[in-house]
Amino acid sequence: MTSTNGSVDVVVIGGGIAGASVAYELAAHRRVLLLEAEQALATHSTARSAATCIPGHGTGPVRALVAASLPRFAALAQELDAPPLLTARAVIWAGFDDDGVHGVDGLLTERAGEPLAPQRISAGEAERRCPVLRPGVVRAAALTSASADVDAAALHAAFVRGLRRRGGVVRTSVRVTGIGRLAAGWRVGTGDGHVDVPDVVDAAGAWADVVARAAGVAPIGLVPLRRTAAVLSVAEPERLVGAGGGLQPMVTEVGERFYFKTESGGLLASPGDETPSEPVDARPDALDVALALERVAAVTTLGLRSVRTSWAGLRSFVADRRPVVGSRPQDPGFHFVAGQGGSGIETSPALAAFAAAVITGTPVPADIAVDPATLSPTRLK
Ligand SMILES: Cc1cc2nc3c(=O)[nH]c(=O)nc-3n(C[C@H](O)[C@H](O)[C@H](O)COP(=O)(O)OP(=O)(O)OC[C@H]3O[C@@H](n4cnc5c(N)ncnc54)[C@H](O)[C@@H]3O)c2cc1C
Repeated sequence: MTSTNGSVDVVVIGGGIAGASVAYELAAHRRVLLLEAEQALATHSTARSAATCIPGHGTGPVRALVAASLPRFAALAQELDAPPLLTARAVIWAGFDDDGVHGVDGLLTERAGEPLAPQRISAGEAERRCPVLRPGVVRAAALTSASADVDAAALHAAFVRGLRRRGGVVRTSVRVTGIGRLAAGWRVGTGDGHVDVPDVVDAAGAWADVVARAAGVAPIGLVPLRRTAAVLSVAEPERLVGAGGGLQPMVTEVGERFYFKTESGGLLASPGDETPSEPVDARPDALDVALALERVAAVTTLGLRSVRTSWAGLRSFVADRRPVVGSRPQDPGFHFVAGQGGSGIETSPALAAFAAAVITGTPVPADIAVDPATLSPTRLK
């Protein structure tokens, strides 16, 4: 039986992007222990994303977090000796039918006046920018030019490196199952012992409510939704090169019924599925993979036939699709950092700094235009 009592201030549960990033930020002020159930960090959602950073994506607070994250990616790369974390890639929001035409109108109206808002482009312009689109299929389109691909693995590794440099400790193969309430603080079971700490951070992704229940804390109503992605083989990979040798834009059906972008000489495609799931090691369903291929083949001229690889992961949301950050008054020291849905990578630089401020009771950095009340678990019934 081992105990690290007195040597740790905060236990962070979950070693995906949420846990690694918030642990890194907290380690500037606190002694941090990061616990991950799997043998390797970043085994679940974090390893399965489409790795895009798209200004204007998601609900209002998510958009504010993405906007605040954009300049922070470059600062983090420098601070943590990481390679460049972003590679520019525009996003075309396309409407292919009447619903899509209304969808593009709605997107432009809702985002009007926001920094880096999408701009309307003609169908011809969409085809010119993404030459693999089938001529004539686009009915309406908008362009977000300030978006990028994220090197999610390098970002996660940088946060972990930074955490260790700040004296933080990482333990893997430790599934936290028991968390007890103390007079002041929490007793966290570590399998071979326990650690008593004033603060616990529940960054357990799809399992955040499982962890909350283990602590006797009311759940936040998290719903994990499975999303599938596949890389499709392309007969003529040379057609995937963008203008000037850069990346071709990503194309997202404006209602997110599917999206695609080039990936290692093939095409990454998703049917935009949102199938409710238990918190599990998600696996792709053959039907969802087939739907991705069918929907993307219908709007491109690439003659897509075979699936090189496919995977699925969980995007976990609460009812209002905003992240959940902070604690409830009745559970002092039990902090959620959960519910990032489809934006956990693109928001991580700002969300981690925001969460660390909320957890340590310090002011939110001025560049993050989000009121802590907006993301507090107290808003959830
Ligand atoms: C197909 C797909 C495409 C996506 N595309 C994008 C995108 O383009 N851009 C973007 O920003 N986001 C995207 N996302 C969303 C993004 O991947 C998630 O928001 C993000 O990875 C969530 O990170 P997390 O750390 O909360 O969860 P996870 O990475 O799942 O990490 C949670 C960790 O907690 C651990 N854990 C659970 N219970 C315990 C316990 N009791 N004890 C210890 N450890 C525990 C788990 O083992 C896991 O490693 C996508 C997701 C999917 C599935």
